[in-house]
Amino acid sequence: MSEIGSEVLVIGGGAAGMSAALPASARAKVTVVDDNPLLGGQIWRAELGKIRSPEAKLLIESLEAGKITVINNAHVFGPDSYGRLLAESPDGTIQLKYEKLVLATGARERFLPFPGWTLPNILGAGGLQAMVKGGLSIENKRVVVAGTGPLLFAVADYLKAKGAIVVCIAEQAPAATIRRFALGLWRYPTKITQGTAMRIRLRDVPYLTNSWITGCIKSSGSSNAITATISRRGKTVSLDCDYVACGFHLVPSTELASVLGCRIEKGVVVVNEYQQTSVANIYCAGEPTGIGGIEASLVEGKIAGLSATGQTDAAREHFAERDKTRRFGKALNSAFALRAELKRLAGPDTIICRCEDVEYGRLTEFPSSREAKLQTRCGMGPCQGRICGAATEFLFGWEPGTVRPPIFPVKMENL
Ligand SMILES: Cc1cc2nc3c(=O)[nH]c(=O)nc-3n(C[C@H](O)[C@H](O)[C@H](O)COP(=O)(O)OP(=O)(O)OC[C@H]3O[C@@H](n4cnc5c(N)ncnc54)[C@H](O)[C@@H]3O)c2cc1C
Repeated sequence: MSEIGSEVLVIGGGAAGMSAALPASARAKVTVVDDNPLLGGQIWRAELGKIRSPEAKLLIESLEAGKITVINNAHVFGPDSYGRLLAESPDGTIQLKYEKLVLATGARERFLPFPGWTLPNILGAGGLQAMVKGGLSIENKRVVVAGTGPLLFAVADYLKAKGAIVVCIAEQAPAATIRRFALGLWRYPTKITQGTAMRIRLRDVPYLTNSWITGCIKSSGSSNAITATISRRGKTVSLDCDYVACGFHLVPSTELASVLGCRIEKGVVVVNEYQQTSVANIYCAGEPTGIGGIEASLVEGKIAGLSATGQTDAAREHFAERDKTRRFGKALNSAFALRAELKRLAGPDTIICRCEDVEYGRLTEFPSSREAKLQTRCGMGPCQGRICGAATEFLFGWEPGTVRPPIFPVKMENL
């Protein structure tokens, strides 16, 4: 087992983690650990080595040029002893020693089960985008993008630019709510610019509000073709496609914070104004503190990096900007709140936990995720409830179960 010591250890090389590492490195020895082969996180994940955004390029180059140690391809799976974490890398286990820790572990998509959601070519919206960034050819493939949230737009825009035929974007939120959200964007000019540019590029793609996916079946004929059904204003519409990219907004990734004893409330890591968690030497920034978009991740990261290295006056200068991004996050989460009809999508034999093949019908008798786990193994598979946990929370109102290390499956020899 190798050992790496840092004054400030940052977990997550996305917008928040990179933004924390830079100001911290002016005062301290900093290490950034990320489980991807390259820095950038979800939004800036390099596309086969090419980085599209100039802002990301600048951050990544500054990081690489600085005294910061970057460890890629390493999955942090839990604490070792006090002030030490363990990560699994292709070369074995790394023990990461720290004085201050910044958690910038991002978010993941929320999946809601519907009949047929486990068929091939039905993927998370961000998941399909990541696969295309990784080299999957989407040219001339028909894609239905469905679910909720602005990520649907970003994904449709990306896939179209890569040659996909985007059949439609089915957004479950009501048109009036989206309109209200859009009108409130005057406070965020960059969002207006980005949104308008995307809308123009997607002008030939129908944006169906009040519409949600109700099921998918394999089409007869071509091997992976799908017929997706959409509920649209009380009517059912069938659409033929090759892929369904479906995601219902995002869920903060709080598992690492949770095993380290940080307080989690309503699914987010609780932090004070300096981004400090309930554990004194642990800070948290970006999506784990609440879904707020890239600007929130950037500014929270900056505050966390400055605060962790005692630069509190400089950190305070960013509070107003951070509070503004939080207001945006609040408006975002309320505009794209899930409608009650989505609770009725799954049938008795719809799989909810796909790791352990547990159907909806088997879960309805249990009062809690713990009971369901003990009796059915729901949430006990390799994803450790990352997929079904958010779904059962929405479907049954269950509190998520306790998180225990290792938070990811790890090879026996690395434990
Ligand atoms: C699938 C997906 C796709 C998205 N696509 C877009 C998009 O196209 N456009 C857009 O505007 N927004 C997109 N978003 C939202 C976007 O992620 C955020 O606005 C922004 O990137 C958040 O930055 P972050 O640093 O908080 O998190 P992230 O960018 O998610 O960075 C977190 C990083 O931490 C790593 N990590 C997490 N846990 C560990 C661990 N235990 N060990 C090691 N590394 C770890 C992750 O792999 C990731 O690289 C997407 C979100 C998701 C979930």
